[in-house]
Amino acid sequence: GAKQRGKNTYQMYVRQMSMSLHRRVEMEAQLRHAVENNEFTLVYQPRIDLRTNHCTGVEALLRWNNPALGAVSPGEFIPVAEETGAIVPIGAWVLHEACRQAAEWRERGLASIHVAVNLSARQFADPHLHDSILDALSDARLSGEYLELELTESMVMRHPEQAVRWLTAIKRTGVRLSIDDFGTGYSSLAYLNRFPIDTVKIDRSFIRNVPDSHSDTQITSAVIALGHSLGLAVIAEGAETQKQIDFLRHEGCDEVQGYFFSRPIPAADVEGFLGRATEPGLASTTRSLPNG
Ligand code: C2E
Ligand code: MG
Ligand code: MG
Ligand code: MG
Repeated sequence: GAKQRGKNTYQMYVRQMSMSLHRRVEMEAQLRHAVENNEFTLVYQPRIDLRTNHCTGVEALLRWNNPALGAVSPGEFIPVAEETGAIVPIGAWVLHEACRQAAEWRERGLASIHVAVNLSARQFADPHLHDSILDALSDARLSGEYLELELTESMVMRHPEQAVRWLTAIKRTGVRLSIDDFGTGYSSLAYLNRFPIDTVKIDRSFIRNVPDSHSDTQITSAVIALGHSLGLAVIAEGAETQKQIDFLRHEGCDEVQGYFFSRPIPAADVEGFLGRATEPGLASTTRSLPNG
């Protein structure tokens, strides 16, 4: 009867709760040794210039493969690593590996090797971050101009004065700065422009409904126009369809990162992506990419 059903639902709920709690505890424990156990890899998602159809750089995205837990998505483990503080050594590993890879691409003469790395709030609050970035660059013998750091609105808004000072200092090393997931926070682009940022990335949640949703389409156009008027480059995240690409190109959006052009791919595959575009004669045809 209803009573039995209620009891079953309750037991199921308890089982799910303890399962997710168990998984979380396991994740926390496993994250502590994941760097030294070489469980992390980076994949790279190409960014495409909408005017030339060329790959201008890549975003490094973290992947975790653990013997006990299997493959865990960053959407699941980053928040846990953020809470426990494990993100600080993990983030340092990401910086080192991304810079090492960028330097390797550069040594092989591949163009457009600039690499974007995501920073977490905890890392951003860490007083050693500046040194950690300089270490990663100097260990890789990479010049700062080939590295871009992705921050979020809330990270810079928490302590704005401090953030301006820090960002101004890191800009002196040539590193580029972008605001990730723009539109999901509560800040205005005009306010954000007080920070020495170069690029704004429009969040995928807006791009997803373009051009079908009137409001998301209006917002996207407005962010592109305002971004340009503030002297920022504008990137659209998560474009998957030709219709989205056509709209974004028409609105003058500078770059796109999304499944339409490429999913995140292993470093070895990026080489082909970049290599093709650098070959003379292929520049205008860009066989490697779907035609915009
Ligand atoms: P993000 O920085 O906004 O990265 C973009 C995410 O959107 C990536 O998910 C990417 O695979 C996904 N994406 C790109 N284009 C498309 C598309 O066309 N369709 C769909 N459905 N998805 C698309 P991913 O790799 O799962 O990463 C999720 C988030 O985890 C990232 O969002 C970032 O906030 C965080 N993250 C990833 N790697 C790192 C890292 O090394 N450090 C830190 N702190 N966070 C990271
Ligand atoms: Mg990002
Ligand atoms: Mg993000
Ligand atoms: Mg994003």
